Amino acid sequence: MERVDLKLKEGEVHVYLTHEDNREWACAECGVLCPLYDHQPERQWRHLDTCQYRTILHAEPPRSQCPEHGVRVVKLSWAEASSRFTALFEGLAIEWLKHASQKAVGEQLRLSWDEIHGIMERAVERGLARRQAEEIPYLGVDEKAFRKGHKYLTLVNDLTRSRVLYVAEDREQSSLDGFWPTITAEQQASIEAVALDMWDPYVASVRGHLPKAEEKMVFDKFHIAKHLGEAVDRVRRQEHKVLKAEGDERLKGTKYDWLRNPASMEGEQKREFAELRKSELKTARAWALKETAMDLYDYVYEKPARRHFHWWYNWAVRSRLQPMKEVAAMLKRRFENIITYLRHRITNAASESLNAKIQWIKYTARGFRNKQNFINAIYFHCGSLDLAPSPTK
Ligand SMILES: [Zn+2]
Repeated sequence: MERVDLKLKEGEVHVYLTHEDNREWACAECGVLCPLYDHQPERQWRHLDTCQYRTILHAEPPRSQCPEHGVRVVKLSWAEASSRFTALFEGLAIEWLKHASQKAVGEQLRLSWDEIHGIMERAVERGLARRQAEEIPYLGVDEKAFRKGHKYLTLVNDLTRSRVLYVAEDREQSSLDGFWPTITAEQQASIEAVALDMWDPYVASVRGHLPKAEEKMVFDKFHIAKHLGEAVDRVRRQEHKVLKAEGDERLKGTKYDWLRNPASMEGEQKREFAELRKSELKTARAWALKETAMDLYDYVYEKPARRHFHWWYNWAVRSRLQPMKEVAAMLKRRFENIITYLRHRITNAASESLNAKIQWIKYTARGFRNKQNFINAIYFHCGSLDLAPSPTK
């Protein structure tokens, strides 16, 4: 250290670093000790605060002259090559960012959005580079809406370790195609099943990249429940219109009752809904169809489960309820990758805790100027990555 300037008015401590003469420097490329060539112009790094004072390091980074690699800036012990922060400061910011919003951390550490995003981006790069090729028996492919206007991200989750493995823009086949080259052949061989929505671009990508894909794809149980629920709601809306014209308001305001689990209802509401679903209403029949379809998931063995579905399908197509007939046709077409649930027992609900985190990221990070920052934040919080700055010596 050469000298320290205390700037009381600005609340800053400036530390000027130098080095002893006559020492040799390791080449940044090969590590061979070489003579000093010259110094770069002075650079600054934000360091951990000294008491309440912002602390700035100043130094002129030495350049070595390697017989093989020529003139190179030496690796600095306190910072990574591209950073304007010391590794200790960056490590502190990363720890804070794990627990508080970007806005709060920015204010506390007096960092701009760009600086915060830079710290997160470097952390994610390090984390992804350090990732080990663990086995990934159960994957979940999920889409995430990004802002309004139907912008989507595609996420690949490791359901066993509850972490995000991969994030890509859009929800095209190419979005998921980008995932497969990021895993090793051993990892690919370790995949036993993939939970996904009934979404053809994803199906095409899994088929194109995963051997025996037909046995391994499991259409997500909750995605199927959602389709059935939407069909029930279409029946309800049509019927409500007809009843209302006759002055019958029984279905008014009941949309969410038909989507809820009746076991979660209490008292008066429970009694009223029981009356509705036991009625002769078309909506009540549609609802019974939906509940019965979902009974499939209570089966342990495939054979009786197939019989159950066959019986249900015949009931649905004869129900004279058009939306239920349509959803039944779709489920029949997709059935071979619905029944795979009984073998693998996976759903994307295992990613619920990840989804909750992503909601939090969306909510707290109003500073996302672009999708890449959002993608980085997902890796940062949900990737289970080793984010800490590397000691450079
Ligand atoms: Zn060298």
